Amino acid sequence: VGGGFVSFEMCEMLRLANIDVTLILRENIFWHVLLDDTSGRIIEDALIRGGVTIVREAEVQEFTGGDTVTGAVLKNGDTLECDMAIVGIGIVMNLDWVKKARVAVRRGICANEYLETNAADVWVAGDIAEYKDVILGENLQLGNWVNAQMQGRCAGKGMTGKREPFRLVSFYTTQGFGTTIAFVGDVCMAPDRVILARGSRERAAYARIIVWNGRIIGASLINRTQDLAPLSRLIEKGVVVAGDEEKIKDPAFNLASLLN
Ligand SMILES: Cc1cc2nc3c(=O)[nH]c(=O)nc-3n(C[C@H](O)[C@H](O)[C@H](O)COP(=O)(O)OP(=O)(O)OC[C@H]3O[C@@H](n4cnc5c(N)ncnc54)[C@H](O)[C@@H]3O)c2cc1C
Repeated sequence: VGGGFVSFEMCEMLRLANIDVTLILRENIFWHVLLDDTSGRIIEDALIRGGVTIVREAEVQEFTGGDTVTGAVLKNGDTLECDMAIVGIGIVMNLDWVKKARVAVRRGICANEYLETNAADVWVAGDIAEYKDVILGENLQLGNWVNAQMQGRCAGKGMTGKREPFRLVSFYTTQGFGTTIAFVGDVCMAPDRVILARGSRERAAYARIIVWNGRIIGASLINRTQDLAPLSRLIEKGVVVAGDEEKIKDPAFNLASLLN
């Protein structure tokens, strides 16, 4: 159950074990919370080729069974029989006890660029941290190992008097069904952000590059990991790409040349 990286990876594990898999998606397209139609469809093409059956726009209401699960009842009343259920539907931050301590929270625990909270001598790091990103100039909250590890290091330095701002262009990659998915920077869409589409579903290789105020702030890459390093550098250096949009959209164009 779920249309994100956990379910994507689990689908592959189960198919490698030759287990029949039905994937229940709440949305109409895979990973539609973060990706656009083209990216989602390329991933779905891979899932379907790999033998996964997709049920769209469906929400699980309850599981049936006793000691073991026997089925999933959907909100539309349908029941899907199953011997095993795997649920990857995201997380909810446990913030109540933090609020009681009067530490400021929004979606996560608020922090400045030094990962310091509003409470004296309280730092934050990892998935729970909603911090001021000095590279993108916005508040970010990320969920990956590199980010958590590097933030732990930064907060630890702050605690020992070596105060320095947290600076990282975060990235994450996952693979399955012969498809590589990568995220770099901030991949959330907003009305004032522009998407540059590089590649196509037909070629099963597609980058969705997000531009804000003339600069690249993030990208999702399907089977285009060669773009990961140059995009990471372009984000980090804050290179202005206004006027280069058409070049960037050409999959053959070398993004690294924009760094010069
Ligand atoms: C299934 C899955 C697969 C993933 N795969 C990847 C991957 O391939 N690559 C990648 O980069 N990231 C991956 N991630 C994300 C990655 O695991 C997280 O970003 C990372 O673990 C965050 O580290 P953290 O220290 O912030 O939180 P966590 O690793 O979640 O650690 C939090 C710890 O705090 C403890 N805790 C919670 N509340 C309290 C409390 N009140 N008092 C004391 N202790 C408490 C918890 O028990 C836990 O031990 C995956 C996540 C999941 C769920």
